[in-house]
Amino acid sequence: MKLGKYSIGIGDRFGHQGEAQLEALRLLKQEGVAVTPVWNKSYREHSIINSRPADTRVEADAAVRALGWQEPYFVDADHVGMKTVDHFIAASDFFTIDVADFIGQSAEKEALQEFVDRNLLFAGDLRIPRIPEPLTVALEQIEEIGAKYLFAVEEAGRIYRHIAAEKKGQPFVVEISMDETNAPQTPVELFFILAAIAWKGIPVDTLAPKFTGRFNKGVDYVGDVRQFTREFEEDLAVIAYAVELFKLPAQLKLSVHSGSDKFALYGPINAALKKFNAGLHLKTAGTTWLEEVIGLAEAGGEGLAMARAIYRHAHSRYEELCKPYATVIDIDPARLPAPDEVDGWEARHYAAVLRHDQSQPLYNPHFRQLIHVGYKVAAEMGERYLDALKRFRPTIARNVTANIYERHLRRIFL
Ligand SMILES: [Zn+2]
Repeated sequence: MKLGKYSIGIGDRFGHQGEAQLEALRLLKQEGVAVTPVWNKSYREHSIINSRPADTRVEADAAVRALGWQEPYFVDADHVGMKTVDHFIAASDFFTIDVADFIGQSAEKEALQEFVDRNLLFAGDLRIPRIPEPLTVALEQIEEIGAKYLFAVEEAGRIYRHIAAEKKGQPFVVEISMDETNAPQTPVELFFILAAIAWKGIPVDTLAPKFTGRFNKGVDYVGDVRQFTREFEEDLAVIAYAVELFKLPAQLKLSVHSGSDKFALYGPINAALKKFNAGLHLKTAGTTWLEEVIGLAEAGGEGLAMARAIYRHAHSRYEELCKPYATVIDIDPARLPAPDEVDGWEARHYAAVLRHDQSQPLYNPHFRQLIHVGYKVAAEMGERYLDALKRFRPTIARNVTANIYERHLRRIFL
């Protein structure tokens, strides 16, 4: 199975929306655009929900059967390292090898020297087709990039070979991610990271760098859109060139770990993909969970009562819920409504505050981000929450499908 030119990572924390998610991809396919679904879930999410990678596999297979989906699909071991990868070997056929924590750790002196020697020829003016100005590369810069990234690439190689040995010949998609770090990688850094990946013989399919700006969970981009667009286009040019130059896999493409809902970037990304005839993997976060809460609220009655209760609990456990996500959320507590106020909201009002529609004056990104990290509250409700998902399924499914189809797929891939 091939990942294809376009693919999307869809998260589903509670594992009940596989069909509703896949329906969005089916709708897009009817419009002539093929996007491969990849169900992604990290070790952290599995731990909080108390689910296992095998559950994601069961969900994906069931959704594919139910909709008669004939195209490829994958199950992603999201953000794994050597310590967590073994949980995912059997169930996953897509591995996001996360080596962000190894950036800045120094490789062996000899390896570093060899890296510099191999790349000396790129010092000076580095001309990359489709980047108007040559990139200037100083010799010291090659040394610095090696010191910063070579060890991380070596670690990716160790993890890749471990997976390959365990998979015993079964094919899988290889993603290398460096996005969960503070400093973005420049196009020049990306070029030499790709040189190192090729040197280390990792058959990488997708690469997730850290881009400039803030990619908070479930809300829009915060940053300079023009600067992002320039970097994104330069990255596309670097990848296309590196594939030829370093003999990397022809299908290699960028993966944007968007944290979901970076609507301000979707237009520029769409245009850049067309301009460069490039592929993309767009990883979204677990905003399907937010559509569940919206669906519950819209259902009214007990559904709405549950949506209100979720907010009340999340609000009272603000510190605890936000802590693991501190670097990827920006919540102003002063902008959070009091739970008593929320208890007075009607179904439509609650949905309008939570749904990511910036043309809606009621929309509140602070409320949205708190609910986003508040899925632990629903996890603790256990069967009561899962029963509600079944009971209010039509309202929830409608929201899940429309969100992925209208707000994400159409904007970025059509
Ligand atoms: Zn990521």
